[in-house]
Amino acid sequence: MSASDYVIAPPAQASLPVRGSDARFPVHRVYCIGRNYAAHAVEMGHDPEREAPFFFQKNPGNLDASGIFPYPDRSVDVQFEVELVVALSGGGRDIPAERAEALIWGYGVGLDMTRRDLQGQAKKAGRPWEVGKAFEHSAPCSALVPASEIGHPTEGAIRLRVNSETRQEGDLAQMIWKTPEIIAVLSQYFELRAGDVIMTGTPAGVGPVARGDVMEAHVAGVGDLAVRVT
Ligand code: MN
Repeated sequence: MSASDYVIAPPAQASLPVRGSDARFPVHRVYCIGRNYAAHAVEMGHDPEREAPFFFQKNPGNLDASGIFPYPDRSVDVQFEVELVVALSGGGRDIPAERAEALIWGYGVGLDMTRRDLQGQAKKAGRPWEVGKAFEHSAPCSALVPASEIGHPTEGAIRLRVNSETRQEGDLAQMIWKTPEIIAVLSQYFELRAGDVIMTGTPAGVGPVARGDVMEAHVAGVGDLAVRVT
């Protein structure tokens, strides 16, 4: 199909940069897992028992590698969540965890930015989370790095500093559901595809940002991401 086959110009393909390359990773969907580090579950008022994982989505176009986070409208409590980002080169349904790593193209460092006040109101009313989670620029992300270069990170520091002060600090080994398990469970509910991106949850220490703040995220063995709030 060409552009003239559509009644309006087709939207641009969402994509992320690849470290050390001019090529880009085309994004199909963005899946996020909730409460995947026990200490964060506790700080949000939940039992850290290994309950079944649950998921929500952001929009592919919410990913933003510009290093700028424009403070969004309609919220006075916008919070950071540093997360390991997984990018898939293959998919399927009912994928066994043992086969999941072979479907991972690479990794990145991301922020699941959250309008916590709107998310809280939605939770209380039993409503969907999109207004709190899936807004424009809500997923700052680093350039992706291929697993062929760095392997599959399963342990090591995951950290966020705001204005040079450490706010979140954890270890990938603390993930309640490991990356292959997340892929396995997700694929029981959705048909995963090449181009899907998964945000794997955040360690404890989430908190609010203000205009002018600089967030510096780090995941050992994967990379760094610096984002200024404007
Ligand atoms: Mn999150």
